[in-house]
Amino acid sequence: MTDCLFCKIVSGDVPATIVHETARTVAFRDVNPQAPTHVLVIPKGHYENAAALAAADDGLADEVLTAAHAIAVQEGVAEDGYRFVFNTGPAAGQTVFHVHGHVLGGRTMHWPPG
Ligand code: 5GP
Ligand code: ZN
Repeated sequence: MTDCLFCKIVSGDVPATIVHETARTVAFRDVNPQAPTHVLVIPKGHYENAAALAAADDGLADEVLTAAHAIAVQEGVAEDGYRFVFNTGPAAGQTVFHVHGHVLGGRTMHWPPG
């Protein structure tokens, strides 16, 4: 999509600090981190939200999940614990409509989230 911020990060038109990449996924640091580790994992292809990604039905959602855990290990937060969150839709706080999972770690998390 030409007018999508995260597609522009995939293409390199918008800079980002990339921390992990596979053939079909890329992960980069959130510009406004909410935890010591805050990385966004996305498929390189454009899907609006987690439901659309799941409906792709070709293993891509699995690749995103696998990448998230690899990032947690790489960031040193896997052992203590981390959160992997997909805000899905405006009421959940989704503001960028290219599906992204937030890998959050490095501090104690609270439940339920606000
Ligand atoms: P959402 O609210 O849609 O679940 O998450 C969007 C996330 O994208 C937010 O945490 C926000 O800080 C992050 N974000 C917005 N614009 C940029 C950007 O230009 N670069 C990076 N790295 N993160 C961004
Ligand atoms: Zn996009």
